[in-house]
Amino acid sequence: HHFSDPAEVEALRGNLLAWYDRCKRDLPWRTLAATEPDADRRGYAVWVSEVMLQQTQVATVIDYYNRWMQKWPTLQALAQASLEEVNELWAGLGYYSRGKRLQEAARKVVSELDGHMPRTAEALQKLLPGVGRYTAGAIASISYGQATGVVDGNVIRVLCRLRCIGADSSSPAVIDRLWDMANALVDRSRPGDFNQALMELGATVCVPKAPLCGECPVKQHCRARRRKLFGKPAPVPDVEDCGECVGDCPLCPPATEPWDSSLGVTNFPRKAAKKQPRAMRAATCVLERRGCGGKPEYLIVQRPSSGLLAGLWEFPSLPLAQDLQEEKEREVLADHLQAWMGQPVAAKGLQFIGEVIHIFSHIHQTYVVYSLPLDGDVTLDPASPSRWVTEEEFHASAVSTAMKKVL
Ligand code: SF4
Repeated sequence: HHFSDPAEVEALRGNLLAWYDRCKRDLPWRTLAATEPDADRRGYAVWVSEVMLQQTQVATVIDYYNRWMQKWPTLQALAQASLEEVNELWAGLGYYSRGKRLQEAARKVVSELDGHMPRTAEALQKLLPGVGRYTAGAIASISYGQATGVVDGNVIRVLCRLRCIGADSSSPAVIDRLWDMANALVDRSRPGDFNQALMELGATVCVPKAPLCGECPVKQHCRARRRKLFGKPAPVPDVEDCGECVGDCPLCPPATEPWDSSLGVTNFPRKAAKKQPRAMRAATCVLERRGCGGKPEYLIVQRPSSGLLAGLWEFPSLPLAQDLQEEKEREVLADHLQAWMGQPVAAKGLQFIGEVIHIFSHIHQTYVVYSLPLDGDVTLDPASPSRWVTEEEFHASAVSTAMKKVL
Protein backbone atom coordinates (compact mmCIF):
# COMPACT_ATOMS: atom_id res chain seq x y z
CA HIS A 1 0.00 0.00 0.00
CA HIS A 2 2.92 2.35 0.50
CA PHE A 3 4.61 4.64 -1.96
CA SER A 4 7.89 2.83 -2.02
CA ASP A 5 9.25 3.86 -5.43
CA PRO A 6 10.88 7.33 -5.29
CA ALA A 7 10.51 7.79 -9.05
CA GLU A 8 6.79 7.14 -8.83
CA VAL A 9 6.46 9.62 -5.95
CA GLU A 10 8.25 12.29 -7.98
CA ALA A 11 6.02 11.65 -10.98
CA LEU A 12 2.89 11.75 -8.88
CA ARG A 13 3.89 15.06 -7.29
CA GLY A 14 4.70 16.57 -10.66
CA ASN A 15 1.45 15.44 -12.29
CA LEU A 16 -0.67 16.60 -9.41
CA LEU A 17 0.97 20.04 -9.16
CA ALA A 18 0.80 20.59 -12.93
CA TRP A 19 -2.91 19.80 -12.82
CA TYR A 20 -3.40 22.13 -9.85
CA ASP A 21 -1.65 24.99 -11.64
CA ARG A 22 -3.98 24.50 -14.58
CA CYS A 23 -7.28 23.83 -12.84
CA LYS A 24 -7.23 25.27 -9.33
CA ARG A 25 -10.22 27.27 -8.20
CA ASP A 26 -9.66 30.94 -7.47
CA LEU A 27 -10.41 31.29 -3.79
CA PRO A 28 -9.91 34.47 -1.77
CA TRP A 29 -7.80 32.84 0.96
CA ARG A 30 -5.53 31.29 -1.67
CA THR A 31 -4.89 34.68 -3.20
CA LEU A 32 -4.18 36.17 0.21
CA ALA A 33 -1.87 33.31 1.24
CA ALA A 34 0.10 33.72 -1.99
CA THR A 35 0.42 37.51 -1.99
CA GLU A 36 0.28 38.81 1.58
CA PRO A 37 3.73 39.83 2.86
CA ASP A 38 2.72 39.79 6.53
CA ALA A 39 3.26 36.21 7.77
CA ASP A 40 0.87 36.49 10.71
CA ARG A 41 -1.90 37.70 8.45
CA ARG A 42 -1.25 34.83 6.02
CA GLY A 43 -1.54 32.35 8.83
CA TYR A 44 -4.65 34.03 10.18
CA ALA A 45 -6.41 34.03 6.78
CA VAL A 46 -5.73 30.35 6.15
CA TRP A 47 -6.81 29.54 9.69
CA VAL A 48 -10.16 31.34 9.27
CA SER A 49 -10.79 29.65 5.93
CA GLU A 50 -9.90 26.20 7.24
CA VAL A 51 -12.17 26.52 10.27
CA MET A 52 -15.04 27.70 8.08
CA LEU A 53 -14.45 24.89 5.57
CA GLN A 54 -14.79 22.18 8.20
CA GLN A 55 -18.19 20.62 7.47
CA THR A 56 -19.18 23.41 5.05
CA GLN A 57 -19.05 23.68 1.25
CA VAL A 58 -16.55 26.03 -0.41
CA ALA A 59 -19.33 27.90 -2.26
CA THR A 60 -21.02 28.79 1.03
CA VAL A 61 -17.80 29.68 2.80
CA ILE A 62 -16.55 32.33 0.32
CA ASP A 63 -19.11 34.95 1.29
CA TYR A 64 -18.71 34.32 5.05
CA TYR A 65 -14.93 34.44 4.71
CA ASN A 66 -15.01 37.75 2.82
CA ARG A 67 -17.32 39.35 5.36
CA TRP A 68 -15.24 38.03 8.25
CA MET A 69 -11.96 39.31 6.85
CA GLN A 70 -13.51 42.67 6.09
CA LYS A 71 -14.81 42.99 9.62
CA TRP A 72 -11.74 41.55 11.38
CA PRO A 73 -8.77 41.81 8.98
CA THR A 74 -6.24 40.89 11.66
CA LEU A 75 -5.95 38.69 14.72
CA GLN A 76 -5.85 41.85 16.82
CA ALA A 77 -9.19 42.99 15.43
CA LEU A 78 -10.77 39.59 16.02
CA ALA A 79 -9.44 39.46 19.57
CA GLN A 80 -11.46 42.60 20.34
CA ALA A 81 -14.74 41.31 18.90
CA SER A 82 -17.56 40.20 21.18
CA LEU A 83 -18.96 36.67 21.09
CA GLU A 84 -22.29 38.18 20.05
CA GLU A 85 -20.72 39.74 16.94
CA VAL A 86 -18.93 36.49 16.10
CA ASN A 87 -22.14 34.48 16.46
CA GLU A 88 -24.03 37.00 14.33
CA LEU A 89 -21.58 36.71 11.47
CA TRP A 90 -21.39 32.95 11.85
CA ALA A 91 -25.19 32.47 11.85
CA GLY A 92 -26.11 30.03 9.08
CA LEU A 93 -22.69 28.38 8.85
CA GLY A 94 -23.59 25.84 11.55
CA TYR A 95 -21.39 24.23 14.21
CA TYR A 96 -21.31 27.52 16.05
CA SER A 97 -18.65 26.56 18.57
CA ARG A 98 -16.13 26.81 15.70
CA GLY A 99 -16.48 30.60 15.55
CA LYS A 100 -16.34 30.95 19.29
CA ARG A 101 -13.20 28.84 19.59
CA LEU A 102 -11.51 30.74 16.77
CA GLN A 103 -12.12 33.99 18.55
CA GLU A 104 -10.88 32.63 21.90
CA ALA A 105 -7.74 31.34 20.23
CA ALA A 106 -7.16 34.74 18.56
CA ARG A 107 -7.29 36.35 22.02
CA LYS A 108 -4.68 33.92 23.20
CA VAL A 109 -2.34 34.71 20.29
CA VAL A 110 -2.65 38.42 21.03
CA SER A 111 -2.32 38.21 24.81
CA GLU A 112 0.17 35.37 25.21
CA LEU A 113 2.11 35.12 21.95
CA ASP A 114 2.63 38.79 21.32
CA GLY A 115 0.23 38.67 18.37
CA HIS A 116 2.43 36.27 16.39
CA MET A 117 1.20 33.00 14.92
CA PRO A 118 3.32 29.90 15.65
CA ARG A 119 5.07 28.85 12.42
CA THR A 120 5.14 25.04 12.55
CA ALA A 121 2.37 22.45 12.62
CA GLU A 122 3.64 21.11 15.95
CA ALA A 123 3.63 24.54 17.63
CA LEU A 124 0.29 25.54 16.11
CA GLN A 125 -1.36 22.40 17.42
CA LYS A 126 0.25 22.73 20.82
CA LEU A 127 -0.32 26.42 21.42
CA LEU A 128 -3.63 27.24 19.78
CA PRO A 129 -6.79 25.94 21.44
CA GLY A 130 -9.14 24.23 18.99
CA VAL A 131 -6.43 23.78 16.33
CA GLY A 132 -6.11 20.07 15.60
CA ARG A 133 -3.61 18.15 13.53
CA TYR A 134 -5.30 18.89 10.23
CA THR A 135 -5.72 22.66 10.67
CA ALA A 136 -2.19 22.96 12.03
CA GLY A 137 -0.79 21.13 8.99
CA ALA A 138 -2.82 23.24 6.60
CA ILE A 139 -1.74 26.56 8.13
CA ALA A 140 1.92 25.52 8.40
CA SER A 141 2.17 24.20 4.85
CA ILE A 142 0.06 26.83 3.07
CA SER A 143 1.13 29.93 5.00
CA TYR A 144 4.66 29.04 6.08
CA GLY A 145 5.89 26.48 3.55
CA GLN A 146 6.53 23.72 6.06
CA ALA A 147 6.79 20.33 4.30
CA THR A 148 4.10 18.65 6.32
CA GLY A 149 1.12 16.67 5.03
CA VAL A 150 -2.58 16.99 5.80
CA VAL A 151 -5.31 14.40 6.04
CA ASP A 152 -8.95 15.41 5.70
CA GLY A 153 -11.95 13.57 4.27
CA ASN A 154 -10.89 14.29 0.69
CA VAL A 155 -7.31 13.14 1.26
CA ILE A 156 -8.53 9.97 2.96
CA ARG A 157 -10.61 9.11 -0.08
CA VAL A 158 -7.86 9.83 -2.60
CA LEU A 159 -5.14 7.95 -0.70
CA CYS A 160 -7.38 4.96 0.00
CA ARG A 161 -8.13 4.71 -3.71
CA LEU A 162 -4.58 5.34 -4.87
CA ARG A 163 -3.36 2.56 -2.61
CA CYS A 164 -6.36 0.20 -2.34
CA ILE A 165 -6.74 0.75 1.39
CA GLY A 166 -9.96 -1.05 2.28
CA ALA A 167 -9.68 -1.36 6.06
CA ASP A 168 -12.03 0.91 8.05
CA SER A 169 -10.79 4.37 7.11
CA SER A 170 -12.14 5.91 10.29
CA SER A 171 -10.10 3.64 12.56
CA PRO A 172 -7.20 5.34 14.37
CA ALA A 173 -4.70 2.77 13.07
CA VAL A 174 -5.59 3.47 9.43
CA ILE A 175 -5.74 7.23 9.99
CA ASP A 176 -2.22 7.10 11.47
CA ARG A 177 -0.91 5.31 8.39
CA LEU A 178 -2.59 7.85 6.12
CA TRP A 179 -0.84 10.66 8.00
CA ASP A 180 2.49 8.88 7.52
CA MET A 181 1.69 8.57 3.83
CA ALA A 182 0.65 12.21 3.48
CA ASN A 183 3.84 13.34 5.22
CA ALA A 184 5.99 11.17 2.98
CA LEU A 185 4.21 12.23 -0.17
CA VAL A 186 4.03 16.01 0.30
CA ASP A 187 6.12 17.97 -2.18
CA ARG A 188 9.18 19.43 -0.46
CA SER A 189 9.31 22.68 -2.40
CA ARG A 190 5.58 23.43 -2.73
CA PRO A 191 3.96 21.76 0.27
CA GLY A 192 1.02 24.14 0.56
CA ASP A 193 0.11 23.80 -3.10
CA PHE A 194 0.57 20.05 -2.97
CA ASN A 195 -1.77 19.68 0.01
CA GLN A 196 -4.37 21.91 -1.57
CA ALA A 197 -4.03 20.00 -4.82
CA LEU A 198 -4.63 16.67 -3.12
CA MET A 199 -7.70 18.06 -1.35
CA GLU A 200 -8.93 19.73 -4.51
CA LEU A 201 -8.54 16.48 -6.42
CA GLY A 202 -10.78 14.81 -3.84
CA ALA A 203 -13.30 17.65 -3.99
CA THR A 204 -13.60 17.91 -7.76
CA VAL A 205 -12.32 14.74 -9.48
CA CYS A 206 -11.96 11.86 -7.04
CA VAL A 207 -15.41 12.57 -5.63
CA PRO A 208 -17.27 10.07 -3.43
CA LYS A 209 -19.89 8.65 -5.80
CA ALA A 210 -18.86 8.97 -9.44
CA PRO A 211 -15.16 9.86 -9.65
CA LEU A 212 -13.91 11.20 -12.98
CA CYS A 213 -11.04 8.74 -13.35
CA GLY A 214 -10.63 9.49 -17.06
CA GLU A 215 -9.66 13.10 -16.26
CA CYS A 216 -7.61 12.29 -13.20
CA PRO A 217 -4.01 13.60 -13.26
CA VAL A 218 -2.74 10.73 -11.11
CA LYS A 219 -4.65 7.89 -12.71
CA GLN A 220 -1.52 6.05 -13.73
CA HIS A 221 -0.56 5.80 -10.05
CA CYS A 222 -3.96 4.59 -8.92
CA ARG A 223 -4.19 1.00 -7.73
CA ALA A 224 -7.98 1.06 -7.38
CA ARG A 225 -8.30 2.06 -11.01
CA ARG A 226 -5.84 -0.60 -12.08
CA ARG A 227 -7.80 -3.16 -10.11
CA LYS A 228 -11.01 -2.02 -11.79
CA LEU A 229 -9.51 -2.19 -15.27
CA PHE A 230 -7.58 -5.43 -14.92
CA GLY A 231 -9.77 -7.19 -12.39
CA LYS A 232 -7.05 -8.30 -10.03
CA PRO A 233 -5.00 -6.74 -7.27
CA ALA A 234 -1.76 -5.06 -8.25
CA PRO A 235 1.15 -7.45 -7.81
CA VAL A 236 3.30 -6.74 -4.80
CA PRO A 237 6.64 -5.95 -6.38
CA ASP A 238 8.82 -6.53 -3.40
CA VAL A 239 7.34 -8.18 -0.36
CA GLU A 240 10.27 -6.91 1.69
CA ASP A 241 8.99 -3.37 1.14
CA CYS A 242 5.54 -4.19 2.30
CA GLY A 243 5.78 -6.97 4.85
CA GLU A 244 2.23 -6.43 6.00
CA CYS A 245 0.68 -7.42 2.69
CA VAL A 246 1.20 -11.04 3.52
CA GLY A 247 -1.58 -12.62 5.52
CA ASP A 248 -3.53 -10.33 7.80
CA CYS A 249 -2.87 -6.94 6.32
CA PRO A 250 -4.20 -4.10 8.50
CA LEU A 251 -4.84 -1.94 5.41
CA CYS A 252 -6.55 -4.45 3.12
CA PRO A 253 -10.34 -4.88 3.04
CA PRO A 254 -11.47 -7.46 5.63
CA ALA A 255 -11.69 -10.98 4.17
CA THR A 256 -15.43 -10.96 4.89
CA GLU A 257 -15.95 -7.93 2.61
CA PRO A 258 -13.88 -8.53 -0.50
CA TRP A 259 -13.68 -6.34 -3.62
CA ASP A 260 -17.13 -5.74 -5.13
CA SER A 261 -16.66 -5.33 -8.88
CA SER A 262 -19.96 -3.45 -9.29
CA LEU A 263 -18.51 -0.63 -7.15
CA GLY A 264 -15.25 -0.20 -9.05
CA VAL A 265 -12.92 2.34 -7.46
CA THR A 266 -15.63 3.33 -5.00
CA ASN A 267 -14.82 0.12 -3.13
CA PHE A 268 -12.50 2.52 -1.34
CA PRO A 269 -12.56 4.03 1.18
CA ARG A 270 -14.58 1.91 3.56
CA LYS A 271 -16.05 2.90 6.84
CA ALA A 272 -17.53 0.96 9.70
CA ALA A 273 -21.31 1.48 9.86
CA LYS A 274 -22.17 4.92 11.20
CA LYS A 275 -23.86 5.37 14.53
CA GLN A 276 -27.43 6.57 14.17
CA PRO A 277 -27.86 10.19 15.25
CA ARG A 278 -29.61 10.63 18.59
CA ALA A 279 -33.29 11.60 18.27
CA MET A 280 -34.35 14.54 20.42
CA ARG A 281 -37.55 16.55 20.73
CA ALA A 282 -38.04 20.07 21.96
CA ALA A 283 -41.10 22.27 22.30
CA THR A 284 -40.67 25.82 21.13
CA CYS A 285 -43.03 28.76 21.18
CA VAL A 286 -43.10 31.79 18.91
CA LEU A 287 -44.54 34.56 21.08
CA GLU A 288 -45.81 37.38 18.93
CA ARG A 289 -46.91 40.92 19.78
CA ARG A 290 -47.71 44.05 17.78
CA GLY A 291 -44.77 46.44 17.97
CA CYS A 292 -44.49 50.06 16.84
CA GLY A 293 -46.50 50.72 13.69
CA GLY A 294 -48.36 47.43 14.13
CA LYS A 295 -45.41 45.35 12.92
CA PRO A 296 -45.23 41.90 14.48
CA GLU A 297 -42.42 41.32 16.96
CA TYR A 298 -41.16 38.02 18.34
CA LEU A 299 -39.61 37.13 21.65
CA ILE A 300 -36.16 35.55 21.47
CA VAL A 301 -34.08 34.36 24.41
CA GLN A 302 -30.43 33.47 24.71
CA ARG A 303 -29.10 29.97 25.26
CA PRO A 304 -26.52 29.28 27.97
CA SER A 305 -22.92 30.11 27.10
CA SER A 306 -21.83 26.47 26.92
CA GLY A 307 -23.17 23.31 25.31
CA LEU A 308 -24.97 22.87 21.99
CA LEU A 309 -25.56 26.19 20.14
CA ALA A 310 -23.90 28.06 23.01
CA GLY A 311 -24.90 31.71 23.33
CA LEU A 312 -27.22 31.68 20.31
CA TRP A 313 -30.70 33.20 20.44
CA GLU A 314 -33.87 31.16 19.98
CA PHE A 315 -37.58 31.14 20.61
CA PRO A 316 -38.17 29.95 24.17
CA SER A 317 -37.68 26.19 23.94
CA LEU A 318 -37.34 23.25 26.20
CA PRO A 319 -36.36 19.62 25.68
CA LEU A 320 -39.19 17.08 25.76
CA ALA A 321 -39.28 13.45 26.75
CA GLN A 322 -39.79 11.25 23.66
CA ASP A 323 -43.21 9.87 24.50
CA LEU A 324 -45.00 12.84 26.07
CA GLN A 325 -48.73 13.30 25.30
CA GLU A 326 -49.60 16.50 23.45
CA GLU A 327 -51.63 17.83 26.37
CA LYS A 328 -48.72 17.36 28.74
CA GLU A 329 -46.37 19.01 26.20
CA ARG A 330 -48.50 22.14 26.26
CA GLU A 331 -48.46 22.21 30.04
CA VAL A 332 -44.70 21.97 30.40
CA LEU A 333 -44.24 24.54 27.65
CA ALA A 334 -46.71 26.91 29.36
CA ASP A 335 -44.76 26.59 32.63
CA HIS A 336 -41.53 27.28 30.82
CA LEU A 337 -42.95 30.40 29.17
CA GLN A 338 -44.19 31.66 32.50
CA ALA A 339 -40.61 31.63 33.77
CA TRP A 340 -39.55 33.96 30.92
CA MET A 341 -42.57 36.24 31.05
CA GLY A 342 -43.26 36.44 34.76
CA GLN A 343 -46.98 35.85 34.30
CA PRO A 344 -49.13 32.74 33.98
CA VAL A 345 -49.68 31.32 30.49
CA ALA A 346 -52.76 29.23 29.73
CA ALA A 347 -51.73 25.95 28.09
CA LYS A 348 -54.83 25.94 25.91
CA GLY A 349 -53.91 29.32 24.44
CA LEU A 350 -50.87 27.75 22.78
CA GLN A 351 -51.59 27.09 19.15
CA PHE A 352 -49.90 24.06 17.61
CA ILE A 353 -48.32 25.01 14.27
CA GLY A 354 -46.35 21.99 13.14
CA GLU A 355 -43.00 20.25 13.48
CA VAL A 356 -39.59 21.29 12.22
CA ILE A 357 -36.86 18.71 11.83
CA HIS A 358 -33.25 19.76 11.87
CA ILE A 359 -30.14 17.58 11.79
CA PHE A 360 -27.23 18.80 13.89
CA SER A 361 -23.89 16.99 13.77
CA HIS A 362 -25.03 14.02 15.84
CA ILE A 363 -28.58 14.92 16.80
CA HIS A 364 -31.82 14.44 14.92
CA GLN A 365 -33.81 17.25 16.47
CA THR A 366 -37.57 17.70 16.17
CA TYR A 367 -38.97 21.05 17.24
CA VAL A 368 -42.67 20.95 18.08
CA VAL A 369 -43.69 24.48 17.22
CA TYR A 370 -46.41 26.46 18.98
CA SER A 371 -47.41 30.08 18.66
CA LEU A 372 -48.95 32.47 21.13
CA PRO A 373 -50.20 35.89 20.03
CA LEU A 374 -50.17 38.41 22.88
CA ASP A 375 -52.45 41.40 23.28
CA GLY A 376 -51.41 43.25 26.42
CA ASP A 377 -47.93 44.27 27.45
CA VAL A 378 -45.55 41.75 28.95
CA THR A 379 -42.88 42.48 31.51
CA LEU A 380 -39.79 40.43 30.77
CA ASP A 381 -37.54 39.28 33.58
CA PRO A 382 -34.65 41.80 33.37
CA ALA A 383 -32.23 39.25 34.81
CA SER A 384 -32.75 36.84 31.89
CA PRO A 385 -31.36 37.55 28.42
CA SER A 386 -34.41 38.07 26.21
CA ARG A 387 -35.65 40.65 23.72
CA TRP A 388 -38.37 41.47 21.22
CA VAL A 389 -37.33 41.58 17.57
CA THR A 390 -38.95 42.32 14.24
CA GLU A 391 -38.57 39.79 11.45
CA GLU A 392 -35.60 41.71 9.98
CA GLU A 393 -33.93 41.97 13.39
CA PHE A 394 -34.52 38.28 13.92
CA HIS A 395 -32.63 37.42 10.73
CA ALA A 396 -29.76 39.73 11.66
CA SER A 397 -29.45 38.17 15.14
CA ALA A 398 -27.27 35.25 16.14
CA VAL A 399 -29.94 32.63 15.59
CA SER A 400 -29.46 29.11 14.34
CA THR A 401 -30.68 27.83 10.98
CA ALA A 402 -33.12 25.61 12.87
CA MET A 403 -34.80 28.69 14.41
CA LYS A 404 -35.08 30.34 11.01
CA LYS A 405 -36.93 27.23 9.84
CA VAL A 406 -39.18 27.50 12.90
CA LEU A 407 -40.10 31.10 12.06
FE1 SF4 B 1 -9.57 8.74 -7.77
FE2 SF4 B 1 -10.04 7.62 -10.14
FE3 SF4 B 1 -7.99 9.32 -9.81
FE4 SF4 B 1 -7.92 6.88 -8.74
S1 SF4 B 1 -7.98 7.37 -10.91
S2 SF4 B 1 -7.34 8.80 -7.74
S3 SF4 B 1 -10.04 6.62 -8.15
S4 SF4 B 1 -10.18 9.80 -9.65
